Amino acid sequence: MCSIIAANRQRELDLAFLENRDKPKELFVGNDIRKIGRVVVIYDYRANGIACGYSLDHGVAGGVANILGYAGAKSRGVLLLNALSNGKSAREAARIVTKEVRGGHYGSATYLMCDEKSIVSIESFGKKIHESGHGRKLVITTNHFHDLKEGKRSENSVLREKYIQRLDEISEQSILKLATRHKDPAICRHGRTLASFAVFKKRDESPKILYSITEPCKGYKEFVA
Ligand SMILES: [Zn+2]
Repeated sequence: MCSIIAANRQRELDLAFLENRDKPKELFVGNDIRKIGRVVVIYDYRANGIACGYSLDHGVAGGVANILGYAGAKSRGVLLLNALSNGKSAREAARIVTKEVRGGHYGSATYLMCDEKSIVSIESFGKKIHESGHGRKLVITTNHFHDLKEGKRSENSVLREKYIQRLDEISEQSILKLATRHKDPAICRHGRTLASFAVFKKRDESPKILYSITEPCKGYKEFVA
C-alpha cells in the first residue's frame, strides 16, 4: 500500500516525487535507504527489491504501488530496480516494466515513472496492462486502478487519492506537509507507513533526496549521494 506523487515541469521544480511506502507491520521485515549502482533506493529486506528509487545518472524517479487482486511469483521490487538501473528516461524505464509484466508473472500493481520530461503510469494485472500519463505534469496514485477494471478498490485508497489531488501547489514544503498529514484521511499512516522517499529537483541545482525510514511525521533526513 502506498501513496505516490510524481510531478515535473512545475513553476519551482523540474521534478518532484514522493512515495509513502505503506505496509502492515505484521508483514514487514524492514527497509533502509541505500545506493545500488547509481540508483538511490528504499530497499525492502523481505523482497530483496525496492519500493521506490531515483537514478542519479538518468534523473528518473520511480515507485510501485500494490493493488490487491492478482498474485505473481516474481518480485515487482526487483523489476523496478532493473527499470531504474537501465532505463535512460522515464519512458525507457516504463518500457522495461511493460515488456516484463506482460508475461503475467508479477502481482498486480501500478508503477509510476517520472523524469523532467514525462511521467508514465503503468497498471498491471496478470497479462493486462494499461499505460497512461504521457503529457501530464502531475500524476498521483494510491492502491487502486484508474483504467483497468480489475483489482480491489478500498475506500481508504480512494479517500487518500482524492485528498492528495487537492494539492494545489507543487513545492517541497506542500508535498512534505501532505506526506506527514494524520487525519481525514491520514497520508502518514501509523503502523503502516514505514518509509517515505522524496526527490525535489530545482532548475540548475542538484536533486535533493529526502527520506524517512519510519513514519514520515518523525522527520526527514537528506541522503547525500
Ligand atoms: Zn505520522
